[in-house]
Amino acid sequence: MTLRVAIIGTGPGGFYTADALLKSALESGLDLEIDLIDRLPTPFGLIRGGVAPDHQTTKRVIKAYDRTAQNERVRFYGNVELGKDVSLDALKALYDAVVLSIGSPLDRPLGIPGEDKKGVFGAAAFVGWYNGHPDFRSLDPDLSCSAAAVIGNGNVAIDIARVLVKTPAEMAETDLPDYAAQAIHKGGIKDVYMFGRRGPIEAKFTNVELREMGNLSDSHPVVDPADLPDSVEGDWSPRDRRLRERNLETLREFTALDPAGKSKRVHFAFYAKPVEILGGDRVEALRLERTAVEGGRARGTGEFFEVDCGLVLPAIGYQAAPVEGLPFDTDNGVIVNDDGHVEDGVYCAGWVKRGPTGVIGTNKPDGDIVAQRILGDLGNLDDLGAGKEGRRGLETLLDGKGLRYVTYEDWQKIDEAEISTATKPAPRRKFVAVEEMLDVLVS
Ligand code: NAP
Repeated sequence: MTLRVAIIGTGPGGFYTADALLKSALESGLDLEIDLIDRLPTPFGLIRGGVAPDHQTTKRVIKAYDRTAQNERVRFYGNVELGKDVSLDALKALYDAVVLSIGSPLDRPLGIPGEDKKGVFGAAAFVGWYNGHPDFRSLDPDLSCSAAAVIGNGNVAIDIARVLVKTPAEMAETDLPDYAAQAIHKGGIKDVYMFGRRGPIEAKFTNVELREMGNLSDSHPVVDPADLPDSVEGDWSPRDRRLRERNLETLREFTALDPAGKSKRVHFAFYAKPVEILGGDRVEALRLERTAVEGGRARGTGEFFEVDCGLVLPAIGYQAAPVEGLPFDTDNGVIVNDDGHVEDGVYCAGWVKRGPTGVIGTNKPDGDIVAQRILGDLGNLDDLGAGKEGRRGLETLLDGKGLRYVTYEDWQKIDEAEISTATKPAPRRKFVAVEEMLDVLVS
């Protein structure tokens, strides 16, 4: 009998789970079929829609995913949305295991007054916009202002700040969509403030990403030396201490850089907690409270200040969207699970399982855990009872609805069209609308 698995969401979490299942099947002789289902016609989730367009080397990981997708036991069904085109109950009836690896697509709210003003865009939307994600291509942010405030001190905040200040030449080898390039490079932003509610030691960005901010051709990193402690105090593991020492050293180096000849600035503004977004209909300024860090937590000092800006971009972490019928942990923004097990026949992997943390590779051991859990529960095929229909049933269901699902071969055509229409040295010219992608398949 064959173990039939549907994996919903084809970002790193989904691909690493598929890969781990395939490896186990190879070792144990298990007969296995995996169907990768994505609501977009394009695979790779966060790699395509989240990783910054100027971090093309990071995107090379898709070569490994490509091998997984082309394994004879695997099929891709793109343009198929859970809850709209196919229900979880239908998938449960068709597959022995359904794995949800649907990521954390939603922004956590800041929860301060003024968040609904024009000019406030959460990172999920803003990053999606400059990455040509079909959901956000029409965001149309007005970048004519001279200053933007990015909230948060994580890698997403640093990605946003960097993309806003890089020059057209620095973005030439990227897949930044034309509309975003136009808006960013013809816009007026000269100052990007990155506000951290805690200090440089507590900042979550990694050192490679931080160092990059000191090597930009037209942007100077501004750091107040008074914010930098002499050493890393506190109870850190040796590894964490080293990472923090490196960041501190880099920030110290920034204070010695010469701003001459640079027309833009990224201000690393620590110990500042946003309390209100000011303006009329549209953002005009951000009001913040100075903080002090006590016991690792930011405490307001009662001292307030304002910074003029026309754009507020909270990059304070993502959360998953609840799936109807499944338990959801609203505090942590994840599906309630035990090592990926949600309920009989339903599993989760990646950010929707453990929250939006870690680098892309973190999803690999995570995928292994989920795969082992599935095989532990279902690996004895004799216990599975009647064989489930799997992909045959899925195709019947989708055909019955007249749905144009996208196969992996279809994706390869879309991929080729994106690569061949790019203006070199850009690696590809992304299609940003689902219809454009489907049009490639009819011509
Ligand atoms: P993150 O690393 O958790 O950073 C979130 C930041 O937002 C933190 O500085 C946090 O401060 C701050 N924050 C949270 N709530 C806030 C509030 N209410 N007011 C003000 N600040 C607030 O999350 P992320 O940047 O979204 O990144 C998600 C994951 O993707 C991370 O693991 C990241 O490393 C990874 N990633 C990696 C790369 C890369 O490797 N190049 C690129 C992008 C993303 P506190 O620390 O005080 O909570």
